[in-house]
Amino acid sequence: MSIEKGTIAVQTENIFPIIKKFLYSDHEIFLRELVSNAVDATQKLKKLSSLGEISGEIGATNISISIDKDAGTLTISDKGIGMTADEVKKYINQVAFSSASEFLEKYQGLEDGKSIIGHFGLGFYSAFMVADKVMLVTKSGKENAEPVRWTCDGSTEFTLEPWEKAERGTDVILFINDENKSFLEDAKIEGLLNKYCKFLPVEIQFGVKEETVKGEEEGTDTTVNIPNIINNPSPAWTKKPAELQDEDYKNFYNELYPYTEAPLFWIHLNVDYPFNLTGILYFPRIKKSYEIQKNKIQLYSNQVFVTDEVKEIVPEWLTLLHGVIDSPDIPLNVSRSYLQSDQNVKKINNYITKKVAEKLEETFKKDRAEFENKWENINVIIKYGMLSDEKFAERAEKFCLLQNTDKKYFTFEEYKEHIKAGQTDKNNNIIALYTNNTTDHHVYVDAAKGRGYDVLETDNVIDNHFISFMEQKITGVQFKRVDADTVDQLIDKDEKTASILSEEESNTLKGLFERIADANAATIVLSPQSPDDNVVAITKPEFMRRMKEMSHLNGMDFAASMPDQYNLVVNTNHPVIQKILKQEENVKEQSVKQLHDLALLSQGMLKGTDLTEFVKRSVELMN
Ligand code: ADP
Repeated sequence: MSIEKGTIAVQTENIFPIIKKFLYSDHEIFLRELVSNAVDATQKLKKLSSLGEISGEIGATNISISIDKDAGTLTISDKGIGMTADEVKKYINQVAFSSASEFLEKYQGLEDGKSIIGHFGLGFYSAFMVADKVMLVTKSGKENAEPVRWTCDGSTEFTLEPWEKAERGTDVILFINDENKSFLEDAKIEGLLNKYCKFLPVEIQFGVKEETVKGEEEGTDTTVNIPNIINNPSPAWTKKPAELQDEDYKNFYNELYPYTEAPLFWIHLNVDYPFNLTGILYFPRIKKSYEIQKNKIQLYSNQVFVTDEVKEIVPEWLTLLHGVIDSPDIPLNVSRSYLQSDQNVKKINNYITKKVAEKLEETFKKDRAEFENKWENINVIIKYGMLSDEKFAERAEKFCLLQNTDKKYFTFEEYKEHIKAGQTDKNNNIIALYTNNTTDHHVYVDAAKGRGYDVLETDNVIDNHFISFMEQKITGVQFKRVDADTVDQLIDKDEKTASILSEEESNTLKGLFERIADANAATIVLSPQSPDDNVVAITKPEFMRRMKEMSHLNGMDFAASMPDQYNLVVNTNHPVIQKILKQEENVKEQSVKQLHDLALLSQGMLKGTDLTEFVKRSVELMN
């Protein structure tokens, strides 16, 4: 063949400036596109060889990436199927450009073009985002094929000519342009290969690395350079679950997220009908809500990294999981809003949710003790899932656990049974008591347990929402924080105790407390209780407290900045009260002040000057 010069058939004027502009922010994806092409070409070769259409040994098939700083080039070389001159004309010159114009018509002005480009035969041309000249030297695997070189400088002109090439395959040589010189740096390319090509199915070599070879005698070790292989061509998710041990799953997790704690458990996804999906999802250790890390799941399409923003593909709560999803069926060539209504995506959503629920239920049934051990680390994800996904909630009700202050675990049903006899109030409501802080609420927990009540521990931020959710789910059960009432009122069993104070005495007592208490926050409540119960207590009625917490969560700051409302409950039947009422006027006031402060102190509400004065006064009283 002779040198051929020609004009590439295009409807659109000059495509390259548009490609460059359109994909400007994401020009690094050119590397993914070119390496993917090299992988495709290699796999085609293997396929044809296995079908006997290519004779003889195919030899090594690794892909190699190299940088020539002096020449200013980046080269992607494969030993794949290659192209004949006719194939170059057909696949590179024509196809690309006709689909390029289709691509532009459809997606001009669209924000998220990065995932689309490869699906319109524009992959190869993404090279022009970073290069002002591209050469392609290729030799087809077909018998007696003549190697050719194709050159294009980013205009619509190309050159195609006979060339020298000993080995079968394709070299794509990019003459990196001035604005993109960083793509000639080893570290940059290695980083990109790690991001996009880490699990491609063909070995990818970039540079060399040193390896120590042990010598016969001490001190005779030598170092040799061996090819630096970037990727793991057969990652765990592409294997059958039966071929893998726990160690393999853990090792793969480590490959994905080096230097992180081992995952708790995992789910191997594997379906081929009605859609294709493989992957492994891991439950990370999450103790507190602030440890939640989203965007850890990576989406692949036939082992090519696509994105780690999967929120359109998996339900939001599942983005708390880590791992890999690989599906060629997830349409990447469409806009995000379309993706959400896509039937395949919906089915994938349901499938993943179902699998996660099944795995949890299975673990719960098979080894409850183990499940309980992990609860601390998985409860946030499960609760988040139950709050946001009705179907999952239905399944999870069977294994969602409640933990009490004695570190015992119960399912919803079990807990209801557990407290029914002792904690049913006069209206037949079962009252579940909880604390979100066993230290701060010690006085209250102690009192409740003293009455034989059970107290749950709920120390996660998410529990605020989860408690109202449980009230809807577990019929007949209401939740009340231990400091919502004095212990005799926590579960109202309609057992009234008469007050031993006269009306006049009661009024005096109330007046004394009102003079001392913070009028903006405190309500004085006189409550006849057993003489053994606390003489004074601070309580925060459940409803009021929840309202405030809700307003706070909803960002209504005016509500959040209001002082905490509370009741100051005085036990009129306590012997100390009798004593105080008989004291001299000025002593009386001092005693009431002391009681008031003690109540605040037991809720951790006595601070600053008030606390200092209280300490001083207490010492004086001892004198
Ligand atoms: P796509 O890969 O989406 O088809 P590209 O523009 O990336 O679009 O490539 C167009 C075509 O050029 C490919 O389908 C393939 O036939 C051919 N091609 C590209 N790169 C290579 C390569 N390294 N080896 C062999 N053929 C290639």
